[in-house]
Amino acid sequence: MTQTIASSRPVRTRIAPSPTGFPHVGTAYIALFNLAFAKAHGGEFILRIEDTDQQRSTAQSEQMILDALRWVGLDWSEGPDVGGAHAPYRQSERADIYKQHAEQLLDAGHAFRCFCTTDELDAMRAAQMANGETPRYDGRYANLSREESDKMVAEGKPFVIRMRVPTEGVCRVDDMLRGVVEIPWSQVDMQVLLKADGLPTYHLANVVDDHLMQISHVIRGEEWLNSAPKHQLLYDYFGWEMPTLCHMPLLRNPDKSKLSKRKNPTSITYYRDAGVMPEALLNYLGRMGYSLPNDAEKFTLDEMIASFNIQRVSLGGPIFDIEKLNWLNAEWLRALTPSELKDKILAWANDSDKLTAIAAAIQPRIELLSDAVNWGGFYFQNLPNITADDFAHKSLSPEQIIEILQLALWQLEVLPAWTEDNIFAIMKGLSGALDIKLRDFMAPFFVAIAGSTASTPVMNSMAIIGADMTLNRLRHAIEVLGGLGKKKLKKLEKQAAELPDFLAE
Ligand code: GLU
Repeated sequence: MTQTIASSRPVRTRIAPSPTGFPHVGTAYIALFNLAFAKAHGGEFILRIEDTDQQRSTAQSEQMILDALRWVGLDWSEGPDVGGAHAPYRQSERADIYKQHAEQLLDAGHAFRCFCTTDELDAMRAAQMANGETPRYDGRYANLSREESDKMVAEGKPFVIRMRVPTEGVCRVDDMLRGVVEIPWSQVDMQVLLKADGLPTYHLANVVDDHLMQISHVIRGEEWLNSAPKHQLLYDYFGWEMPTLCHMPLLRNPDKSKLSKRKNPTSITYYRDAGVMPEALLNYLGRMGYSLPNDAEKFTLDEMIASFNIQRVSLGGPIFDIEKLNWLNAEWLRALTPSELKDKILAWANDSDKLTAIAAAIQPRIELLSDAVNWGGFYFQNLPNITADDFAHKSLSPEQIIEILQLALWQLEVLPAWTEDNIFAIMKGLSGALDIKLRDFMAPFFVAIAGSTASTPVMNSMAIIGADMTLNRLRHAIEVLGGLGKKKLKKLEKQAAELPDFLAE
């Protein structure tokens, strides 16, 4: 083995997704490197669900994340679905453990109760902003005596528990890829550990679980680097050995911005539906900021593990480029025998829920089973074959059509839940706001999504093909229509900002 591992403990890594949305390719990326590292060192890779955000976490999202990670070929030896020695693996089922640990810090004087009301915090923030300061907790309850604090609890005053943080000096955090990173303590807030409802924040739950689950190496996205001082301090307070930290570079769009669904599809399910082979997606993620010693472009997970060395990760932001992914996927497809390829195609199309929804949509329209190909083909496509002429409409100008599509795209990008009802609320609201009859308003969407105005009800189609696939087709349609110039885009952004919240109506 060429690399040194800082810790002498048995290697245990984890992926700790928060189930608050679609399974993100970034989650599979981080999971892949955790798994490869663990396997390369004869260790274990586990999965923990971090659902401390009760408002945003859903069981449906958790299931989608587990399914997507399995689909892509990643497997964990412990997790909420498979159990293990450190169960439960879902943070919502571990509330007592965190509470007990928060109280331990409180008793040791490393944490304190804060009785600030929301109004008080808002006023604090507003005053700091007015003074040109970065908003942060000012420590007003940090020096309350334990007696006073207990008295306020006895009076029934609601409180949170915050950790103490040094006000001066620099925190030094060791990162496997970056070496020592220095972060001034003045930039670190007195983090809330336990909320007023007795539930933990991410920071407390994450540290307690990594310790109790004997995680030796924390490999996670760069966006968590700024949390490392708080975590390091918590390990010190508890007197625990901290796992070795490794912050991976963020995946980026071809324009170098952070990979986001506003520019590119980011959900694993989109890539599955578009027809990327799981092996190819994993292979592509394995090339993000990483290369094999032999510089191979096409490799399997086992090949990656066999020569894995985390020090080969380069920090320059890796670009997630769909064109390159498609090229690599083609390499994988061409390496199959025709019979294997046939099996892959059948397995790819055989999504029972989706097929049933499509069957329901085309049933009133078909006479022969073979008509399903004409009526149902677009559900399986990636991008429909369309030209600007296909959008020609009796009462809508081409400029108007681009504007409609763009305004809808912005609204749909931020839909909290991808349901037909929500899609309808947006479409109806927008058509009303623009004073266009819903029927006329919807025409361009039929073309963008289904390739033709003669198709199954398009809002239902959008719900069936999913968020990322819909957004991608809308972006494609705007491009086919010639796109929006900078000036027009600015104007439209203004118009968009003035639109009401259609979901609230
Ligand atoms: N729950 C965090 C996330 O969603 C985990 C961060 C970590 O790995 O510490 O990314």
